[in-house]
Amino acid sequence: MRLSRYFLPVLKETPSEAQIVSHRLMLRAGMIKQASAGIYSWLPLGFKVLRRIEQIVHEEQQRVGHIPMLMPTLQSADLWKESGRYDAYGPEMLRIRDRQDRDMLYGPTNEELITDIFRSHVGSYKDLPLTLYHIQWKFRDEIRPRFGVMRGREFLMKDGYNFDLTKEDALHAYNRHLVSYLRTYERMGLQAIPMRADSGPIGGDDTHEFLVLAETGESEVFYDSQITDLKFGDREIDHDDHAACAAVLEEFTSRYARTDETHDEALFSQVPEDRRRTARGIEVGQIFYFGTKYSEPMGARVQGPDGKPVPVHMGSHGIGVSRLLGAIIEASHDERGIIWPEGVTPFHAGIVNLKQGDAEADAACEALYAALRGLGLDPLYDDTKGGAGAKFATMDLIGLPWRITVGPRGLKNGVVELTSRRTGESEEMPPEQAVERIA
Ligand code: ATP
Ligand code: MG
Ligand code: MG
Ligand code: MG
Repeated sequence: MRLSRYFLPVLKETPSEAQIVSHRLMLRAGMIKQASAGIYSWLPLGFKVLRRIEQIVHEEQQRVGHIPMLMPTLQSADLWKESGRYDAYGPEMLRIRDRQDRDMLYGPTNEELITDIFRSHVGSYKDLPLTLYHIQWKFRDEIRPRFGVMRGREFLMKDGYNFDLTKEDALHAYNRHLVSYLRTYERMGLQAIPMRADSGPIGGDDTHEFLVLAETGESEVFYDSQITDLKFGDREIDHDDHAACAAVLEEFTSRYARTDETHDEALFSQVPEDRRRTARGIEVGQIFYFGTKYSEPMGARVQGPDGKPVPVHMGSHGIGVSRLLGAIIEASHDERGIIWPEGVTPFHAGIVNLKQGDAEADAACEALYAALRGLGLDPLYDDTKGGAGAKFATMDLIGLPWRITVGPRGLKNGVVELTSRRTGESEEMPPEQAVERIA
């Protein structure tokens, strides 16, 4: 992309309405614009990152055998009356009436809708196990929408639902989700710690939240510091192997780690004192096992091996896709702007032309631009007439991992300058070498 033809409305002033750094930086970098309280338009740069995050979520869901689909945002109230949640959900649910006077709602989550799909089409245990998921907009009329996309009212969520014959199988689905979530967050450059949590309006027995440690997090968390040494890394886990998935769950959840909702002082005091940590965290996902909570009242049954109908065991599993942008920025920025992890960066590198209009500099930039694109990379070429200071400030603000600076003086010696956004280190080298480093 050439900056002269792009839409990147960066702000010079710090917006006064933004209380936390990720919200400030997303506004300043021209990633989002508030449409109304807790509802945002995704401007091109923000949309690009959102799509990259979605892509990682899709890949990691499908890696473990989960099946993508898409359910609507607007739902009929009828199903929610069947499950009993229409009244129980409270004012967070946006209720709408259509012209035929039918009660509708903008879905805050999809357990009812997916259970209805399941009961309409699946009748035998032979069709299990089954896990379906989608990435779709949700609406929750949060009492205090704030912090930009971190607590929006309209937000993008991956929500997945498993259907299993037995509790044991459903617990395997739970463990498998934990495995896949660990990998998902690490690919985004995040450490998200599974913590025992409270099930809230979804209901159920077993649940873990995934929290990214950050001072601006809304949850208070308590944990054994040893947990921050754990890495999932690039292990290959067979997602059908119950014991292998259970072992990962055991490894990542056996040390004390809880949110304020489930915190237990007596248990926490058994952690050696020098390892006890109290901090704040951002909830970026949650997994639930809730047994037959929905399948029982909604009649989602299959014929078991003995021919008798049994309600299926279910769980649901969410990732806060749009919230993740805020969480990643909270975890990765400096005083000059965002520092995107490679896995989610909107462009792989920025090319800064110090003297636009100089034939040699222009030609060198064009060649770099073509070479990077030829490798399947997506560079942002600042081909505007602006001064070096302003160009550098914009590149630092939008946080691309690499900047290649091209100017007549360097070109006389056959070199350009390659700068790492994360370390701030710059090095002069021939253009081909800079391309190699980035690729
Ligand atoms: P919170 O405790 O932050 O209100 P939740 O527990 O109500 O979140 P879940 O029902 O577990 O949310 O939804 C799954 C994920 O969706 C959450 O882990 C979070 O990352 C994301 N999410 C929930 N509410 C919002 C929101 N208002 N804005 C953006 N993301 C959200
Ligand atoms: Mg909530
Ligand atoms: Mg929560
Ligand atoms: Mg939650």
